[in-house]
Amino acid sequence: MISDKFLAMLACPVCKGELVQSDTGGLRCYPCCLEYPVKGDIPVLLPDEAKRIPRLDTEAAKP
Ligand SMILES: [Zn+2]
Repeated sequence: MISDKFLAMLACPVCKGELVQSDTGGLRCYPCCLEYPVKGDIPVLLPDEAKRIPRLDTEAAKP
């Protein structure tokens, strides 16, 4: 697990947006629909290493 404090210092390398820890331990960027892997306790913030995730409905539901 990545601590919230550490997570707050991280940003998506593509859009510079905030990352959200997923249930599987990866770090997700919802605007980019990417999930970056975490190997050990080290986040791998490389677009080439990230996997595609489906766009969430909550994104469209925002006011
Ligand atoms: Zn992004």
